[in-house]
Amino acid sequence: MATETLIERLAPIQKSFFQKVNQQFDSAARFTTHPRGMLEQIKICNSSCHFTFPIKRDDGTIETLHGWRAEHSHHKLPTKGGIRYSTLVNEDEIMALAALMTYKCAIVDVPFGGAKGGIQLDRCEYSESELERITRRYTYELIQKNYIGPGVDVPAPDFGTSETEMAWMLDTYLGMAADKLDAIACVTGKPIEQNGIRGRKEATGRGVFFGLREACAIAEDMKRLGLSTGLPGKTVVVQGFGNVGYHAAKFLSEGEAIVTGIIEIDGALYNPEGLDVEKVFACREESGSIRNYPDATLIDNPQDGLELACDILVPAAVENQITAENAPRLKARILAEAANGPTTAAADEHLKQRNMLILPDTYLNAGGVTVSYFEWLRNLSHVRFGRLGRRFEENQYKSMLQAVEKATGYQFSSTEIALIGHGADENDLVDSGLEDTMITAYHEIRETHRRRCPAADLRTASFITAIDKIAEAYLQLGIFP
Ligand code: NAD
Repeated sequence: MATETLIERLAPIQKSFFQKVNQQFDSAARFTTHPRGMLEQIKICNSSCHFTFPIKRDDGTIETLHGWRAEHSHHKLPTKGGIRYSTLVNEDEIMALAALMTYKCAIVDVPFGGAKGGIQLDRCEYSESELERITRRYTYELIQKNYIGPGVDVPAPDFGTSETEMAWMLDTYLGMAADKLDAIACVTGKPIEQNGIRGRKEATGRGVFFGLREACAIAEDMKRLGLSTGLPGKTVVVQGFGNVGYHAAKFLSEGEAIVTGIIEIDGALYNPEGLDVEKVFACREESGSIRNYPDATLIDNPQDGLELACDILVPAAVENQITAENAPRLKARILAEAANGPTTAAADEHLKQRNMLILPDTYLNAGGVTVSYFEWLRNLSHVRFGRLGRRFEENQYKSMLQAVEKATGYQFSSTEIALIGHGADENDLVDSGLEDTMITAYHEIRETHRRRCPAADLRTASFITAIDKIAEAYLQLGIFP
């Protein structure tokens, strides 16, 4: 009864997305001792820009579009955050997502302030060449307003954009940049052949996998949820089968979790024995919809998919999907927030009271910005990761194997030599850096939770971790003597 009263009290308060993020910030700030002025500075959005620009449609008509870029925090530079193409884009959403980027970067120790940008459009209504003109014009606006640059603000892909848009942004920036030396670091998430980095496309989904694997490995936490320890055998439902959702599903099933449900905008698939993630992907590529996948029950109303029986629910689509209305019917024990802001404040309160484990977005989807950081570093250093050390490592390993053979008489097979004697290349280093980041950050926020706010949740703990690190950065800048 007490639970219902609290949820009823929270449900009618329709907070904006940015207000919701700030509410989460305030809940965490109570557990810190930073001066009020410092907390205000951390919380506020430093700058935000709304601009309109015309584009010529293929039929010759002129249309005006609305775009935004918000830089939430300049405590570290450049600022960093994705570009979103969606009809729902608005200034409040962009500021909220920029704020989440600030906290996310701090949680995973990536030295950027947070930013976000977007254009209000439905990309399905535009041809490829129209999207190129829109992206180039948007980039031009960012350049004019000093909202892009390798040391200023570095965009990346987000909902509705991909490496293609990043390549157009890079080309537009390169054409106009006065200093060409580091200009390739003006965006991340670029195609590999245009100075992108191996592993960026799959990074957010891969990070979701590493985060979930780490959380499921802690016996004490799993016992509290009534689950066995370890990822293998756990059932998973994923909402959104785009970049993040597809890669999360792929890596989770490779890690022996069973992906039993996939939810898309036009329907959901369910198979308690497990879906073949690659086949669902191929089916969508060929036919345009997951609905045509044969080996599953088709659920017409996608929202019903969120309520399927499973151990882990992975929202990887858009915000506000888990609400006070559907939260009581969720069956999952772990909510893995791969999307940004998928849970409303009222739903959050309800799930907490049901002792569900919520892996917050500020931590769980930080894999993308982590690998973006590696890409930015690679672009600025002008050297491919692994170039300097790989041969040296391989020669060292070879010598060691030969010494072992000589001492023991054992002959290593060519497969063993290839496995043990392999020096780290860019793929290996990016993957290892991402794995280390997700594991370290998880234990950091879990420890903060245990020591500083045991009665709260991991979301609060992740905000406390972020606030402490940003406050420290401000102190180092000498802004708050
Ligand atoms: P995307 O555009 O590649 O994919 C989104 C998918 O969700 C699409 O297939 C779309 O059809 C589907 N979708 C939209 N609304 C839906 C609904 N109501 N129900 C079911 N499916 C729906 O976008 P993405 O890059 O995968 O981003 C997904 C989420 O992850 C966003 O919240 C984004 O901010 C967040 N995120 C993305 C990255 C990244 O590297 N791309 C990094 C961090 C966070």
